[in-house]
Amino acid sequence: MRLAFFGPPGAGKGTQAKRLAAHHDFTHVSTGDLFREAIHDQTALGEQVDGLLKAGQLVPDDVTNAVVAEKLEALGYERFVLDGFPRTVEQARWLLAHLAEHDAPLDAVISLRVPHEDLVGRLSRRRTDPETGSIYHLDFNPPPADVPAERLVHRPDDQPDAVRHRLGVYDDETAPVEAVLRAHVRFFEVDGTGPLDEVQERVGEAIAEDRGLSGI
Ligand code: AMP
Repeated sequence: MRLAFFGPPGAGKGTQAKRLAAHHDFTHVSTGDLFREAIHDQTALGEQVDGLLKAGQLVPDDVTNAVVAEKLEALGYERFVLDGFPRTVEQARWLLAHLAEHDAPLDAVISLRVPHEDLVGRLSRRRTDPETGSIYHLDFNPPPADVPAERLVHRPDDQPDAVRHRLGVYDDETAPVEAVLRAHVRFFEVDGTGPLDEVQERVGEAIAEDRGLSGI
């Protein structure tokens, strides 16, 4: 099964994609994580994208598509869940064509719906653990007591100015992707508000519906 999460920054795509990957043996493919890894490892790609990520700007489509192609090829185009990709109409068109070429179409897109006014608060309280990749919210999903607070990172692009910029980029560049995906792939809208376990349950219901309740 091949899935993609869609939605604005802070909607919970990463959190839900990680849960799905852990429980159902999918590989979580997050372009944001791949870029952050490249920055951490100081690769040529990392140097190229570092400033863009800090500013909350999009990495160019050709660079991003190449990163995704390499990753999907390594996975044999099976059992992946995309998170944060596609983020432009150009990326969406490329993805649909690329997957069709490999006879591996997306089975479903899960769109996480969260009102814009909630997103700034979510991102400003978000912390990530670079060692485990876990994502926390200081109030609603606090880190366990055995995780040292100094290990947790507040991403530079989760600071208020960068967040506002990213939400603007989402409205301009990413929101129009929805129409392209809807035209070609089963598209499920899932309420992304409320406790994480409830959102996870809704995501599971959408996928079960897609599989005719045959499980994933
Ligand atoms: P994320 O972790 O998904 O919020 O992504 C963090 C940042 O990585 C974004 O603000 C962009 O700078 C970059 N990025 C991630 N995915 C993409 C994409 N599909 N296209 C372009 N830039 C991306």
